Amino acid sequence: MFSNKDITQFANLETPFYYYDLALLQNTLNACADAAKVYNFHVHYAMKANFNQKVLERIKASGYGADCVSGNEVLKAIEVGFGKDKIVFAGVGKSDKEINDALDQDIFCFNVESIQELLVINELATKKGKKAKVAIRINPNVDAHTHHNITTGLDENKFGINSWDLNDCAATLKKCAELEFIGIHFHIGSQITNLDVYKNLCVRINEFAAWFEDRGFVIKVLNVGGGLGIDYHNPDQQIPDFAAYFKIFNDFLEVRPSQEVHFELGRALVGQSSSLISKVLYVKNGKKKNFIILDAGMTELMRPALYQAYHKIENISKAAADVAVKYDVVGPICESTDCFGKEVEMPETERGDLIAIRSTGAYGEVMASRYNLRENVNVAFSEELI
Ligand SMILES: *Cc1c(COP(=O)(O)O)cnc(C)c1O
Repeated sequence: MFSNKDITQFANLETPFYYYDLALLQNTLNACADAAKVYNFHVHYAMKANFNQKVLERIKASGYGADCVSGNEVLKAIEVGFGKDKIVFAGVGKSDKEINDALDQDIFCFNVESIQELLVINELATKKGKKAKVAIRINPNVDAHTHHNITTGLDENKFGINSWDLNDCAATLKKCAELEFIGIHFHIGSQITNLDVYKNLCVRINEFAAWFEDRGFVIKVLNVGGGLGIDYHNPDQQIPDFAAYFKIFNDFLEVRPSQEVHFELGRALVGQSSSLISKVLYVKNGKKKNFIILDAGMTELMRPALYQAYHKIENISKAAADVAVKYDVVGPICESTDCFGKEVEMPETERGDLIAIRSTGAYGEVMASRYNLRENVNVAFSEELI
């Protein structure tokens, strides 16, 4: 929901821009931290969801660790001030340089995704005279019941070590002197809204944990990953039910007193706290369809083109009208997938109206590109509008 004051302010800004509601971000961060504290759970923020400097600063100041998927994210996390002992590093394709940088920074843990990667980390650590802490990312073959393009925990996905390779993995861990095994890691997908999925994950984690313990490994960390979804259809219902989410893990995960449970949340922490604000350039009323052509396109927000993602679209210059018109809301980019929504019901819309594309805080600004030699996308923060 935007106030009249917000909308007046928006009219003075150059569109398109990402608008961040930092107060909402803070409330979301507090809600999650409070819910996690009940069970002593540790939460790392998945930086790839949004690495806007101000957003990162808020998250760091709220006590979160960082979950990184590239060497640059590791270095960025350190630059922003995340504690090195709270940085984890996942990714199927860590380069030698990225591993070396992370070893130099003495991060908390590498989440390792293949046996070959274990050998490489061991070799690079040996050269540096260092020990590397590692958790094994296991692909548990649990269906996340989300869009297939954001599913990561099935046998056919590239992520993690599959169950049939675990014997080899255990043998490799035993022979690599510079690797310190600290636990097991999972991340089965994103935008997960059915919490039963997490029950199934817990059951599998318990089995894998027992498997490692049976072979003499001590598990200090159970890292269950992230993936908690947000309600894209109701962007004003803004804070996810973190209490219900964490309760599932408390109820279904078998945790020994000496063990820590770690989470890696991205979307759920930042998704609702931003909207992409765009201006209507043209309205084309066709025979079969009406089009609204925006000054924002897939170059600013890629999710609809990349995985047919739904975002609520609102005309914030017009009051909601009784008579709605159906529009396809598209961008200016020379691609047919450059479409934000089809048959979207809106009040009759004119050139110059402001359109809000909601829930764009996660995987929005960070995925912007300069395709078509577009300008870098602008950004505005609630606290800076007076
Ligand atoms: C992307 C990612 C996350 C966060 O996913 P969300 O759906 O944004 O919560 C967590 N862990 C890993 C390893 C990831 O790649």
